[in-house]
Amino acid sequence: MKGTEVIGSNFYFGGCDTVNLAKKYGTPLYVMSEDYICERCKEVRKDFLGKYENTRAVYASKAFLTLEMCRIIEREGLGIDVVSGGELYTAIKAGFPMEKVIFHGNNKTIDEIELAVKNNVGRMVVDNLYELELLNSVAQAFGKTMKILFRITPGVDSHTHKYISTGQVDSKFGIPLKGNIINEAIRRAMDASNIELMGFHFHVGSQLFDNASHIKAVKILVELMKDMKEKVGFITKELNTGGGFGIYYVEGDEPKPLKYFTDAVMNTIKEECGELGLYMPQVIIEPGRWMVGEAGITLYTVGSIKEIPGVRTYVGINGGLPDNPRPALYDAKYEAVVANKMDQEKNSLVTIAGKCCESGDILRYDLKVPMLESGDILAVKSTGAYNYSMASNYNKIPRPAVVMVKEGEDRIIVKRETYEDLLKNEL
Ligand SMILES: *Cc1c(COP(=O)(O)O)cnc(C)c1O
Repeated sequence: MKGTEVIGSNFYFGGCDTVNLAKKYGTPLYVMSEDYICERCKEVRKDFLGKYENTRAVYASKAFLTLEMCRIIEREGLGIDVVSGGELYTAIKAGFPMEKVIFHGNNKTIDEIELAVKNNVGRMVVDNLYELELLNSVAQAFGKTMKILFRITPGVDSHTHKYISTGQVDSKFGIPLKGNIINEAIRRAMDASNIELMGFHFHVGSQLFDNASHIKAVKILVELMKDMKEKVGFITKELNTGGGFGIYYVEGDEPKPLKYFTDAVMNTIKEECGELGLYMPQVIIEPGRWMVGEAGITLYTVGSIKEIPGVRTYVGINGGLPDNPRPALYDAKYEAVVANKMDQEKNSLVTIAGKCCESGDILRYDLKVPMLESGDILAVKSTGAYNYSMASNYNKIPRPAVVMVKEGEDRIIVKRETYEDLLKNEL
């Protein structure tokens, strides 16, 4: 893992001693590496934006979003994807340029659409005809014209976990290419008084190690571009190819560099457009997990240690499902190290259990660790994406703080919740 090292007995992340961070800020603690995030942004600029003209990259903020994250992404020259009013509100409060915001979602509410229209969000990705009508009427009421893409369900199965596969025909997302729905949608968008249709969007799934789904989807979309040009006279200006690029979680994961996906996407679009006599559209990518997943770790303190003779040893940590629901939700796997015992031999096998009243709250089965004692610090890796953003207060457990580390310096970017915070909306 990049940006990690061992000094003496301790695990360092982003140049900071994680045992020290645990002492200074308490646990559980999310730690994010700004250096790592910036490195990924640099890779986006070098291998995609700088390599191909007429391209844009937007960070899918649902992976990890805070005010500080918005400021980093703006500084790094990328745009932001949002999928809710709350995410949009965060970007607004951070002063993020609204023309660089793309708004997704399969059932945007009227309030969310109004917030987007009022604030001149750059692109709305319209999921269905109901939303098209709603958006047009809101835009009309505000006297504005909104630029949109249609989300298309390309009918591609991406061979990832069912809950993070989004491009298959039977999906709650997007407009299916079966029947005449899409022709009708484009006609209506072209006729709508306050809508400017720019093109199409797809997102095939998440945590992918193979570019086959992207290539298949791109081919289907370019075919659609040709069809729509001929049938309804629509010229596609923008093609948004989503995210989904996989990262390293556990042994056996073999993530590919960004360009493995983006080169394939760009070459396929160029080839197909050339063959079919179409203009090359602007191409957009939306990495989420890939941008931040490996940039984060979570620190916990070991509490109870329970050996069931001949069965297994359960090690209780002071967090779990509320700060990381992914193992319970998708059977997600994580690697972890004992941050204060990096120099000791790993001669015991334990199961890391969260502290919630759910048997499914197991962070990791069969982890090799040194001899553990209560008070040891456990560092779970690759928790930067879909952990803080998916955290809950289940069992009325306050959410952890988030600390950003950069070149050996640490700063708090989200305070730890208190018990008062838990009750602040209760009457
Ligand atoms: C979630 C999402 C992404 C990002 O997916 P990752 O797998 O995190 O890269 C991109 N685009 C859309 C529309 C999404 O919903």
